[in-house]
Amino acid sequence: MVVFDADVAVVGLGAMGSAAAWRLAERGVDVLGIERFHPGHVQGSSHGQTRLFRVACLEHPNLVTLARRSRELWEELQARTSTPIIRITGGIMMGPAESDVIRGTLAAAAAHDLPVTHLNRDELVSRFPQHENLLEGTVGVWDPEAGVLHPEAGVIAAVAAAREAGAQIFTDTRVGDIQLVEGGVRIQTPARVFMVRQVVMAAGAWLGKFLPELPLDPWRTPMTWFETDASTTHSFTLEDFPVFIRAVTPDNWIWGHGSADGFGVKVGPDRDPNFVSVDPDSIDRGISPHDHELVSMLVSHAIPGLHPEPAKITTCMVTQTPDGQFLIGRPGGDPRLVVAGGCSGHAFKHATGIGELVAQIVTGDDTLIDTAFVDPNRFLREEKSLAS
Ligand SMILES: Cc1cc2nc3c(=O)[nH]c(=O)nc-3n(C[C@H](O)[C@H](O)[C@H](O)COP(=O)(O)OP(=O)(O)OC[C@H]3O[C@@H](n4cnc5c(N)ncnc54)[C@H](O)[C@@H]3O)c2cc1C
Repeated sequence: MVVFDADVAVVGLGAMGSAAAWRLAERGVDVLGIERFHPGHVQGSSHGQTRLFRVACLEHPNLVTLARRSRELWEELQARTSTPIIRITGGIMMGPAESDVIRGTLAAAAAHDLPVTHLNRDELVSRFPQHENLLEGTVGVWDPEAGVLHPEAGVIAAVAAAREAGAQIFTDTRVGDIQLVEGGVRIQTPARVFMVRQVVMAAGAWLGKFLPELPLDPWRTPMTWFETDASTTHSFTLEDFPVFIRAVTPDNWIWGHGSADGFGVKVGPDRDPNFVSVDPDSIDRGISPHDHELVSMLVSHAIPGLHPEPAKITTCMVTQTPDGQFLIGRPGGDPRLVVAGGCSGHAFKHATGIGELVAQIVTGDDTLIDTAFVDPNRFLREEKSLAS
């Protein structure tokens, strides 16, 4: 007779996995979580002090409900810890009316009747003078529910909440091999084998190593912080220079936010030719001038009050899918397997909501949003398989 170590295992306790373990444990599911590093580490996709939080999600209107539920859950985690996790300041999306930034933001706002405010170019120039050289025809959409999240604190708090709710947590434990076997899943780690009925695969940039048939492309994506230029009179506090996304060319945008206690001004490009595919086990974490070539050029043109040479750079990873939407669901419909990944550079804000979605999928309950647009089966023609 098979002896199960738990009903469900979550592999990878980063943004999505820590939240999934928490939401499963909160529902009374017997769950264990396994993480190869330590919660809040800097090797994956969930480090670097801040992430943008937005509700008028330009990537897909269905994400609005997920973002709002995620905010509630981030606030719940924040209330349990003395560390700030989420700060709502409002955020401004800018670009020509026909740009993806504006069209996507307005589509999300219209689908959910969000309380966004429209700004014309003159209003943008007077309210956000740090942004110079706006593209021809630029307009603004103010999302009052936007802000910043603190990713390391969020992950650490979710793991702690999972543990408090009864999850068994194994850190510094690398899962080597996973096999779907009759009636369950066999998970191999260096010290022992775990047997569970279902596994949630939330291994971030490493997910494709277990599920190579999923179209997951881990990119090396440096993060850059800037200091104000000595000559500027503009303020770059988070309050005066809030969260923004701004179209800077017809096919690229920059994103960022101002500084507050404990973190600095951050600006990054959506696309950069230097975002290259990597093997997450051998990513080059060294920094070279190429890492800031494009962003420095964009900053000097678009936000000249900042010194274009970054004050700090660190490497991170985005796991891209072909359509830029996440992968959440059961590949091949297998009742033993749920995946949560394919972050495509915009999933941190949704991670707690994704954790809840995963818990609903695992337990077979109704999901809080229609998941067709993130269902991994949109890319699969054949049955899934697991490889180590
Ligand atoms: C530069 C940059 C900027 C971004 N900006 C934003 C933003 O502004 N807003 C936003 O919402 N999102 C943003 N994102 C995206 C967001 O950070 C990611 O969507 C999110 O962090 C991904 O979470 P994850 O759980 O998929 O991966 P991770 O948090 O990396 O978690 C995966 C975990 O799996 C573990 N793992 C892997 N293999 C194994 C194994 N074999 N055994 C055990 N454990 C394993 C890893 O150690 C890791 O802890 C940004 C990302 C980057 C890189």
